[in-house]
Amino acid sequence: MMDDIARLREKMNTTFIEDKAGLERFRQDFIGKKGCIAHLFETFKQLPIAAKKAIGPALNGLKNEAEKKFKSAASALEVVPPPAIQQPVDVTLPAFGAAIGSLHPLTIVQNKIISIFQRMGFNLAEGSEIVGDWHNFGALNFPENHPARDLQDTFFLQLNPAQLLRTHTTSVQISTCTAQSPPIRSIAVGRVFRNEAISARSHCFFHQVDGMYIDTAVTFSDLKGTIYHFVEAMFGEATKLRFRASYFPFTEPSAEVDIHCRLCQGKGCTVCKYAGWVEILGAGMIDPNVLTNCQVDPEQYSGFAFGMGIERITMLLYQIDDLRLFSENHLAFLRQFRGCLGFSDAAVFAK
Ligand SMILES: [Zn+2]
Repeated sequence: MMDDIARLREKMNTTFIEDKAGLERFRQDFIGKKGCIAHLFETFKQLPIAAKKAIGPALNGLKNEAEKKFKSAASALEVVPPPAIQQPVDVTLPAFGAAIGSLHPLTIVQNKIISIFQRMGFNLAEGSEIVGDWHNFGALNFPENHPARDLQDTFFLQLNPAQLLRTHTTSVQISTCTAQSPPIRSIAVGRVFRNEAISARSHCFFHQVDGMYIDTAVTFSDLKGTIYHFVEAMFGEATKLRFRASYFPFTEPSAEVDIHCRLCQGKGCTVCKYAGWVEILGAGMIDPNVLTNCQVDPEQYSGFAFGMGIERITMLLYQIDDLRLFSENHLAFLRQFRGCLGFSDAAVFAK
């Protein structure tokens, strides 16, 4: 009987199952009720107990092998793709549409801001998100231990506390200013980080555009002209704006710029906190100390600088009331900007 088992195993191993008919034949020949293995079990029943003990494991092993081969062949035949052409292809059916994505609202607005300033002759500069204390604070007239540093709650690197995540893109301007000599017209764009609680109004990271112009005899009038042009190109010609005295360590005098609330037209609403005005950017004449720190002679040159949060501008433009929407990746939110894919710069180009 052991010989029968061995012969059957060999026969089974050399049987190739190519299709469903072959699978059915295999089932009938080997594991069906009238198959070879069932037949062997019939014979097995009549053996004496000693012989059963000797042969039983081999016979059971053969049965298990046959079932395993059947199952794997069956599952393999299930996944075999059907023949390529089962029925005629109707070439007149419409094609499957390709899924088209859209630009992120922050990217749309960032591109528009860059475009407006590039048309005024500003170069685009980029810099590292991890910077030294000098680039983020020291060179910008934030003395060590000065309370002005508290305005920007900063992430320092644990392994090297002399390095930090930049709190503003103004840090890029220090590199630009040190590497070039005036006249310099440059904007820096990128992500900045501050240790702030995440809410509808603030986040631990956001995006900024920072600009500066350094040349001989640059005045506050140049700054005002630049900002007026920007606001007009960004928000429309009828937009009212005002300069409000403010404080930044790296500019003197400093100002914050507000525009008339677009929602209530200055009458007062929750967005403008019933003030009728919303702040869009900070600006001022570059402090002579900062120019000196960048090896620019403040006796010969002067300059202005400005900075704005891209999130804030985007929220005002599209009337978005929660900052967190920008980073939560909800498609229902992002798909609303599909129409902006072909953003027209016509208004800006015309300037
Ligand atoms: Zn309002």
